[in-house]
Amino acid sequence: MSQITLPENYPISKQHISKLRNLQPASKTLYKEKYLNTYLKEVHETLKEKISVDLKVTAQKFNLDLISQEEYLKYKDGLLSSVMNDDIVDGLYDALIEMFSSIDAFSLLQTSTLESAHEQITIENLADFIGEQPEKTTISLTQVYDDAFQNCKSKYEKEVGTNVQEILAETKQLIFVTIFPERPIPSNLMLDADEDDLEIDGGKVDLTCPISRAIFKNPVKNKNCSHTYDLDALRVYLRSSNSCPECRASLSSSSYTPDLMMQARVEAFNRDQLLAQMVQDKMEDETDKL
Ligand SMILES: [Zn+2]
Repeated sequence: MSQITLPENYPISKQHISKLRNLQPASKTLYKEKYLNTYLKEVHETLKEKISVDLKVTAQKFNLDLISQEEYLKYKDGLLSSVMNDDIVDGLYDALIEMFSSIDAFSLLQTSTLESAHEQITIENLADFIGEQPEKTTISLTQVYDDAFQNCKSKYEKEVGTNVQEILAETKQLIFVTIFPERPIPSNLMLDADEDDLEIDGGKVDLTCPISRAIFKNPVKNKNCSHTYDLDALRVYLRSSNSCPECRASLSSSSYTPDLMMQARVEAFNRDQLLAQMVQDKMEDETDKL
């Protein structure tokens, strides 16, 4: 029933291009720190947005009687299998390598044509130059770019290849919690789990802070034990204690880090609350009419 498709220029939208322009070519920086993390953040944001829009559209379809209640309730399962489709996740990996390679090739093109080009080549006017034969030189810009792109591509295929399992696992986990914010991550999406084990563990993930008992707003995780707390509550708590309220592991202002997975869960949970309210209102309207 559900079919998620990615935009054609995925994952580089207009707003992402300006961020990418500020990146230095990978050879001049730490590849993993800068490129990979920036790229993954963009990919994750794009995916989260795409899923949320799909869920909103479906709730609206239900409200307009375009789909039945049964279809509405089943929609999330269909969405999960559609987004988990290997083509989409593998597409991320290909797009990652394409992006790294084109930025590097672009940078090489800029350097090698600096003297012969009429004007500075930028990402915006690149298309005007590709295919052009600059004066005073016999080199085709297309050839320069294509060669550089192929060289960079084989370099990145090796480099990214070693991290790819980790990247794909993290992305799949994030997709899962964006669709089902309160469910524990199934073991088949964990890197170190047995691949035959497809069972989903029971129970719900607690989205409330163990200190304040409120739904997380700004979740941070203790690196010493992996328990999560809300940042504001934790700051107050740290004034009088330096051990985890859940397990007594040591806890200090330097031992916690943002819990991005929990953040994604909470965002998705809040979205679902709004959608549930929307659907609830419709049900009440229907009852009133009777
Ligand atoms: Zn703990």
